[in-house]
Amino acid sequence: MTLFEKAPAKINLSLDVLDKRDDGYHNVEMIMTTVDLADRVELRPMEMDRVKVALESRYVPSDERNLAYRAAALFKKEYGIKKGVHIQVEKCIPVAAGLGGGSTDAAAVLRGLNRMWKLGIPIGELSDLGAELGSDVPFCVHGHTALAKGKGEIIERLNPPPSCWVVLAKPNIGVSTKTIFQRVKPGKLPHPETALLLSALEDGNFNDMCSHLGNSLEDITFSVYPEVERIKEKMKQAGAEGVLMSGSGPTVYGLVQQESKAQRIYNSMQGFCHEVHLVRLLG
Ligand code: ATP
Repeated sequence: MTLFEKAPAKINLSLDVLDKRDDGYHNVEMIMTTVDLADRVELRPMEMDRVKVALESRYVPSDERNLAYRAAALFKKEYGIKKGVHIQVEKCIPVAAGLGGGSTDAAAVLRGLNRMWKLGIPIGELSDLGAELGSDVPFCVHGHTALAKGKGEIIERLNPPPSCWVVLAKPNIGVSTKTIFQRVKPGKLPHPETALLLSALEDGNFNDMCSHLGNSLEDITFSVYPEVERIKEKMKQAGAEGVLMSGSGPTVYGLVQQESKAQRIYNSMQGFCHEVHLVRLLG
């Protein structure tokens, strides 16, 4: 039996970097939600006890470095499964873009193998397992909209944001999350108003949500890649109501409620930067 899992991209409505932990990671507070730009993950049982990943991408390896591969290997080891799986990933989410592309593929594999091998593992347990693969994987296992704390493994589900259009704009560069975190200087970061953003989501207030978007890492990424800041400025000028860089970048998104306005912003961003998508918030 072949089984499919949709692996949607995430955007950060907020990303706050708190203190550095003894294990070298930072404690964070991130409000994340999903958009309808997704990879497609296909899982097929294999006779042989091994994991095989197939994908067509110039940027992503299909061997044991692939997060989908690592998710399957970890799952098999954790639950002592002696069966094999063939994983086909159709990549639509841009790579190293701040949209959680690898993390969402890994999460889709964990959910999919749980279904394929009929194990009935609760979502919280899958999410804890996902934390071993990367700090955005627990959120991606849950999906929807959530506040992620700790290094990303503590997940609190939130109300979906008011429905809107999302323009995603990405320059022709990839950003390494690790490199950006290495430049974090304690005490020097701006902090988003997470509590106010949480109230806006609680009230379902689109304008308040847009006013309280915030990302501690923006200034660092802007200093290394000035074109990302230019994209943010352009997105604001084009009329997006809320604009923010997602994750450690370089993708910048703009939120807008009216479809015709979203289409106009999408048109004006095209030509200005390498890759532009017009999508809906899934929530
Ligand atoms: P995040 O927002 O979670 O920090 P990102 O969207 O910035 O992640 P990814 O697209 O996940 O970044 O890619 C980061 C790195 O992970 C790339 O160097 C890529 O080669 C590697 N990688 C491994 N497996 C995958 C996968 N299945 N899809 C995308 N990238 C992968």
